Amino acid sequence: MLLTISTTRKPATDLSFLLHKHPDKVQQVEISAGIAHLFYPDLSDEKCTIALLLDIDPVGLVRKKSDNDFALQQYVNDRPYVASSLMSAAIAKAFGTAMGDRCQLKPELVSIPFPLEVQLSGLPVKGGEEMLHSLFAPLGYGIEANGYPIDPQFPEWGQSRYYSVRLTNTVTIQHLLTHLYLLIPVCDNEKHYFVGQHEVEKLMEKGKDWLPSHPARELITKRYLKYKSSLTNEALSMLLKEEEEEPEEAVAEEESIPKLRVHEQRLKAVCDELLLTGAHSVADLGCGEGKLLKLLMEQKQFKKVLGMDVSHRSLTIAHDKLKTERMPEKQKERLSLIQGSLMYRDKRLEGYEAAALVEVIEHLDEPRLAAMEKVIFGYTKPMHVIITTPNKEYNILFESMPENAMRHTDHRFEWTRTEFADWGNRVALEHGYHVSFKAVGEETPEVGALTQMAIFSKNK
Ligand code: SAH
Repeated sequence: MLLTISTTRKPATDLSFLLHKHPDKVQQVEISAGIAHLFYPDLSDEKCTIALLLDIDPVGLVRKKSDNDFALQQYVNDRPYVASSLMSAAIAKAFGTAMGDRCQLKPELVSIPFPLEVQLSGLPVKGGEEMLHSLFAPLGYGIEANGYPIDPQFPEWGQSRYYSVRLTNTVTIQHLLTHLYLLIPVCDNEKHYFVGQHEVEKLMEKGKDWLPSHPARELITKRYLKYKSSLTNEALSMLLKEEEEEPEEAVAEEESIPKLRVHEQRLKAVCDELLLTGAHSVADLGCGEGKLLKLLMEQKQFKKVLGMDVSHRSLTIAHDKLKTERMPEKQKERLSLIQGSLMYRDKRLEGYEAAALVEVIEHLDEPRLAAMEKVIFGYTKPMHVIITTPNKEYNILFESMPENAMRHTDHRFEWTRTEFADWGNRVALEHGYHVSFKAVGEETPEVGALTQMAIFSKNK
């Protein structure tokens, strides 16, 4: 397996300072089952490339193996040629200082994003190009991948799982290295390293700046920790804790959009759409813990904001999060939080120009969904209704999700884009609305985006 990292930021030779590798000599670092050779195929002010060539000792690799894989597999496997986790080990050993965000000679360089290009050959990727995209695209990478057929003489055998990959991005070298360090073995998804508490720590440490906000953080965690559920649960609860503790202001900043977490991105999309309707009063129905309400309260356009949920517990948390007790009088007058149900006609919902149901309808079984339609579209009749729901087609990108499973145990259904459009069109037609549909989140032509949104407006 060969890894090269190049930059064209002048003077490009700065890369050698950042990586702490002297350009004038070929160097070696030893890892548990082999040697990594480091050298510079390009070295000028215009372009600098460092190469890391991994040379694995297959016999040593077998001897080091600690689990009881069946005997023949020890000799008939691809590890000497791909050995992705060993590539990570080599990156850590060869570029440990750079990964730790340090540069003695030119400390001013560490926080500068460099235009960087990475080439990896022989990278095993379970899940193919789609997987590469879901891992690297959210981190801002341009991705080119070339697959290899299993056997060129037998094209009907299909593609192998090995790729030559070119990644481009403008990032700090430290981030680039931590991305590669964690994501190369995640691509591979083979169980060939021992996973214990130490791996949880590595994941948290190396991923701390970007993993909590990565839309595929669950998949990354599960694959990295080899589906050991106790470790995965521990890591995920740490990641979610970080999410809770992150300062909330970050969300409103326009330039932080790439970093927005999935749910925040969804809420922001809904808030933007509500602003566009021109409504001055909005109701968040099934408001949960009040995250959308917080965004809505930040918008002066909304003079009246209502949060309604059936769950008393959620409403208590919403009160807490919105700090309603300490709210200035004027703000208090704008906001109402009420317990209620979408199943029943409720006069308190009347008079709001727009309503949102964010990730709510999939919690309603068929008769309840029909009741909600009557209550909201037939009786309450806000001018505008925004509804979001999971896009089922996207689920195939969640590697660890069993086929036909749903994202949440309480979901009664998850719809494809067509199913959602059919439902939305019928509801609009029956109740005198028109409707349009939007994708929320990064969209792929094959499966769409994570979330789908319908925007209903009453016919004039
Ligand atoms: N909109 C919130 C919460 C989504 S979870 C968010 O996006 O963060 C779904 C919410 O719908 C839960 O808070 C649940 O209590 C609420 N809910 C479920 N059935 C409901 C019903 N019949 N009436 C009102 N709220 C309901």
